[in-house]
Amino acid sequence: MKYQFSNNVPESDEDPVGNILKVAGDPKIISFAGGLPAPELFPVEDLKKATNEVYDEAGRSALQYSIAAGLPELRKQIAERMKRSGIACDIDNIMITTGSQQSIDLTAKIFVNPGDTVIVEQPTYLCALDVFRSYGAHMVGVPMDDDGMKMDALEQAVKDNPNTKFIYTIPSFQNPTGRTMPAERRQRMIEIAEKYNVMILEDDPYGAIRFAGQDVAPVKTFDQEGRVIYMSTFSKILAPGLRIGWIVAEKSLVKKFTLMKQTVDVHSDNLTQHIIAKYMADYNIDDHIAKIREVYRKREGIMMAAIQKYFPQEAHYSHPEGGLFIWAEVPGVDTQTLFNTCIEHDVAFVPGEPFYADKVIPGTFRLNYSNMKEDQIVTGIKRLGNAIKEAIGS
Ligand code: PMP
Repeated sequence: MKYQFSNNVPESDEDPVGNILKVAGDPKIISFAGGLPAPELFPVEDLKKATNEVYDEAGRSALQYSIAAGLPELRKQIAERMKRSGIACDIDNIMITTGSQQSIDLTAKIFVNPGDTVIVEQPTYLCALDVFRSYGAHMVGVPMDDDGMKMDALEQAVKDNPNTKFIYTIPSFQNPTGRTMPAERRQRMIEIAEKYNVMILEDDPYGAIRFAGQDVAPVKTFDQEGRVIYMSTFSKILAPGLRIGWIVAEKSLVKKFTLMKQTVDVHSDNLTQHIIAKYMADYNIDDHIAKIREVYRKREGIMMAAIQKYFPQEAHYSHPEGGLFIWAEVPGVDTQTLFNTCIEHDVAFVPGEPFYADKVIPGTFRLNYSNMKEDQIVTGIKRLGNAIKEAIGS
C-alpha cells in the first residue's frame, strides 16, 4: 500500500542518531553518546513509598481522568520552585506536560505555520529540530561562543527573517554544548525579542544541575510582556521515565496550551502527577538534586581531567558548570569515521552534525558524563583520545 502521509512526516525512515544510540547501547561499550541520567541516583525507594501513599490516600482520584492543565497540588509545588528561581507565577501560569518534548511540540503546534522562521542556537537539541521541521518551520541557526548565542548575530537573524515566530534557546548548560549564557546576554535577548516582536522559548531541563559557578536567572525573569514561554522537566532532577514536565507562561497563553494539549493526550498521566506531588511534599527533592549535582560534578571533573591528559592539543572543548554534556571540536576530523573507529575500541560519542539546523561546523561531537562510572570515564576518554590522535596523525 502506498500511504498518503501528511507533510509533517519525514520522507525518509533514516534515523542516524537512533542508529548511533543503538550501536552505543551495547553493554560492552563505554558510551558517552546518550543523554541519560545516572540510574543509580533514581530515588526508587522513596518513589515506591510515595506511590503506595498515593494509592492508600487518593487511589481513586489518582486513577480517574483529570484536567489538561495538570494536578493543582503539583502545579502549586512547581510554582513555589519557580518563584525561588526568580520567576513570578502562580498555578494558573503553569501547565503540566508529558515531558519537555511535548512542551516543545505544543509550542510549535500553537505558533508555527509552514514557512515560519524559528531561530535556534547553532548547534542545538536535535529532537527540537525534528519537531520544528515536522511543522514545516524554516530554521535559522545563530552562531555561539563560549557564552552561548551571539547577540549581534541573533539580532541580524531576526532582522533578516521578518516572519520569525520565536527564538528557541537552552540558556543553561545547553544540550549539546554545555554552555551557559550570562545574565547580560539574557537581558539583551529580551530586548531583541521586544524590538522585533518575537517570542522566546526557553528550554531549561538542566538549570537546577549546577555544580560550579554562580546561578544565572532564567531569561523568563527579564520578561515584562509575556514573551517568554519557559519550560522544564522532572527528567533530569528525578527520573525521565516519569515523563512529566511543565511550562510557565502568561495565563492567556496557558489556556491556549491547555486546549491544544487536550487534543493530544487529554492530560498527562494523573497517577504520576500525584506521585511526584507526594514526593515533593513529603520527601526532600532539594537534597536529592544536591546528590545529583555532586555526582555529576565529580564525573565532569574526571572527564575534563582525562580530556586534558589524553586529547591532542588541537582539540577544543567546553567547560560546563552544570548539566550533562561537554562539547568537543577537533578541526579536520571526520566524526563519523572517528565514531566507527571508536566503536571498534568499545567507546562511543555522538557526532555533532545532526545538532545543526543549517550550517554544520565539522569535527564536532558531544560527550555525556552523567551515565558512566568514574573508571569507565577515564578508560573511555583515553581510548577516544588515542583514536583522535590517530585520525589527525599527531
Ligand atoms: N530539551 C532538551 C534541551 C533536552 O535535552 C531534553 C532531553 N534530553 C528535552 C528537552 C526533553 O526532555 P523530556 O524528557 O522532559 O521530554
